[in-house]
Amino acid sequence: MGLIKNMLYSQARLLRNMELSDQAIFPYYHTVSNDDLPHVKHIYPIKDEKQFIADLEYLARKYKILYPSVFMECLLNGKPLPERSFLLTFDDGMSEVYHVIYPILKSKGIPAVFFLNNSFIDNKNLFYRHQISLIVNHLLNEKTELSALQKAAELLKTAFDGTDKLISEIRKVEFPFHGVLEQVNELLGLSSEDFLETTRPYLSSAQVVEMKNEGFYFGGHTVNHFPLRKLSPEEQKKEIIDSVKWVKDHFDIPYSLFAFPFSDKGIRLSLFESLYEEFPGLVLMGNSGIRKDTAPRMVQRFSLEDPNYSAEDTIPVALAHAQVNKLIFRNKIRR
Ligand SMILES: [Zn+2]
Repeated sequence: MGLIKNMLYSQARLLRNMELSDQAIFPYYHTVSNDDLPHVKHIYPIKDEKQFIADLEYLARKYKILYPSVFMECLLNGKPLPERSFLLTFDDGMSEVYHVIYPILKSKGIPAVFFLNNSFIDNKNLFYRHQISLIVNHLLNEKTELSALQKAAELLKTAFDGTDKLISEIRKVEFPFHGVLEQVNELLGLSSEDFLETTRPYLSSAQVVEMKNEGFYFGGHTVNHFPLRKLSPEEQKKEIIDSVKWVKDHFDIPYSLFAFPFSDKGIRLSLFESLYEEFPGLVLMGNSGIRKDTAPRMVQRFSLEDPNYSAEDTIPVALAHAQVNKLIFRNKIRR
């Protein structure tokens, strides 16, 4: 967390009483669960149902609901978004979206947009970051033979120097070297296929269809959730276009929505232009906090996922942060 944000969080109680600005807001989460999710817990912390419901109650008290159809219509026709409205979004197509989030949203009449990675849907493949969390979980909780630990360290091009060091190396594994995780899995007796089969961590197509029929919106989030900055412009384009196309074709969806995975930092305007060419009605979402974007129809979001802060703290802090950024001319993302 940045210095300014830290400072603002220390004043969160004071900021709670400030008048909120009128802009529409776009919070994002990945998942919500009362259970320990071993594939998530070592990469980021999440809220439980009670905390999530408290967030929704705050939002419903302070903000108007922004329906995805109205959101799309405003962006595509250059109309201003309804004042002080909110639209929730959820990335990665996790199964709790169906089992936990969807029933809560449905009962409260709150709409949302869900961004899917088509290689994960129907539990076909495991996201490599989720694989990292599972390996870390195993190393922390299971006894592993020293020889296996040493071999794992070797695979990561380091010498074994304690489990903590090995865990920090595992956490650092990034695309395109994530193939090494399969080899570590084998050494530790772990299997991604078994985990996918038994836990079913992602949404199924049938669940998406049911939610779509209830009025929830869906968009692409790349095919594989690779970090885009590590891909060539051509590969970036393919990852994005294939995912948006898949969501539209597979679920018979007329609109085009996309959210950037990891970060939208450094994405050039030329990429946006080629995407608009492919999908003339495309609306995109980033995750760089409350900021304006120079790319047309690119809406920035902020995370509400941190369980240490309720929406009542996070939202006034995010809005105050946006004001500070405006003062120092950092409120606009130039591409
Ligand atoms: Zn994601």
